[in-house]
Amino acid sequence: MSTENKNITILGAGLVGSLLSIYMSRRGYNVSIYERRVDMRKATISAGKSINLALSDRGWKGLKGVGIEDSIRKVAIPMDRRIMHNVKGELTSQQYGEDGQSIYATSRGILNCVMMDEAEKSGVKIHFNHRCTGLDIENNVAKFDYNGAEVEVKSRLIFSADGAFSAGRLQMQLSTDRFEYSQTYLKHGYKELLIPAGDKSSFLMEKHALHIWPRGGYMLIALPNLDGSFTCTLFFPFEGEDSFASIKTETDCEDFFNRVFPDAIRLMPDVAKQFFGNPTGSLVTVRCFPWVVKDKLCLIGDAAHAIVPFYGQGMNCGFEDCTVLDQLMEKHGDNWEVILNEFQYSRKPNSDAIAELAVMNFVEMRDLVGSKDFLLRKKIEARIHDKYPEKWLPLYSQVTFSDIPYSVALANGRKQDEIMKRL
Ligand SMILES: Cc1cc2nc3c(=O)[nH]c(=O)nc-3n(C[C@H](O)[C@H](O)[C@H](O)COP(=O)(O)OP(=O)(O)OC[C@H]3O[C@@H](n4cnc5c(N)ncnc54)[C@H](O)[C@@H]3O)c2cc1C
Repeated sequence: MSTENKNITILGAGLVGSLLSIYMSRRGYNVSIYERRVDMRKATISAGKSINLALSDRGWKGLKGVGIEDSIRKVAIPMDRRIMHNVKGELTSQQYGEDGQSIYATSRGILNCVMMDEAEKSGVKIHFNHRCTGLDIENNVAKFDYNGAEVEVKSRLIFSADGAFSAGRLQMQLSTDRFEYSQTYLKHGYKELLIPAGDKSSFLMEKHALHIWPRGGYMLIALPNLDGSFTCTLFFPFEGEDSFASIKTETDCEDFFNRVFPDAIRLMPDVAKQFFGNPTGSLVTVRCFPWVVKDKLCLIGDAAHAIVPFYGQGMNCGFEDCTVLDQLMEKHGDNWEVILNEFQYSRKPNSDAIAELAVMNFVEMRDLVGSKDFLLRKKIEARIHDKYPEKWLPLYSQVTFSDIPYSVALANGRKQDEIMKRL
């Protein structure tokens, strides 16, 4: 590839776009990211937008591949188990994996800022306030709105890492033949709430755990933050008896929390203000194919495969995209037509599998984790794994603590389920 052909454009400086840019830069490309938003390192993160993410092995592998895992570890809190809170406020807990295995709570905002710093250290140029408005795919041109002015950028290759509502993907829908696309919304949405820190930034609940209040049709979860607070997310139906629609006043909200989450409301006395002040998000699964146009355009991360968050894998899966792409660059040099084609065919079955697993895990989290049968099953599985580690790895561990392809994990999980039902 000649020097002028080394120019790579990435749409979106989110989690995947930032990581991808570092991989590309380390391989000698001139990388420019165009990001719709302002530089979040210079702005404060607004309330209700402070999503906390669980990082697990696939994510760490992606970060390690460019040597930035140490900077991220500094801002991550290990959680080695989930703690279930029942309606009486009684607790049960379940270890996620083997001793020493954890998932890691990280603030999306902090993580994204650290990753943009690392990208810039690697020589990546990030252009903020640039919203992609269209692509001329044949001519490798991306168009942006920059404070009302139209800007055009020509490059060798465009990556669309612009999230679940991707402009790059929309362009593929509009301008390529036989592009398959579906988006499916859950009947549940989500709302972020905050449990503040105690005195001297102390944690008011166990710090090294993901807390769950499973209530059948809905649930509340909480992940720890570095400052002693917890970010809670209420996953709740839009309509119905207990739902966003049924809670109309602050009194409705307080009554509801006192009835179903009594130990949580004691820790967030201003819950009603937060409930009405913070936005309600929707939960979408996006499937599409193809992900690439020749050697010109490639969808990656949520732009290619947005999933619901119940396995904590959306970002991890996007980081794994970067690992796989890097392995293909190693294998095929700069033969981008081959790299991109192999990339989409190897990743698509796996992103479909994790999309399915993520929806399945919603039922497990909001319902089953609270039951004695479920906890017994988990104990039996852990025993079998201890005795036959080569033959039985629980599904959760395959997804979270390994890089077994998601499609293989899903198939293994189905077999295990049959066996456990008989047991
Ligand atoms: C409630 C919730 C909880 C979650 N929890 C987890 C978890 O625990 N673990 C996990 O692994 N994943 C989790 N996820 C999923 C995770 O957030 C996503 O998978 C991840 O953010 C995808 O990264 P991305 O870079 O592909 O997209 P995004 O993070 O959405 O980044 C896209 C970027 O593109 C920019 N952009 C958008 N449009 C344009 C445009 N037209 N022009 C220029 N720039 C544009 C955006 O501003 C943004 O910066 C969760 C998601 C939700 C909603």
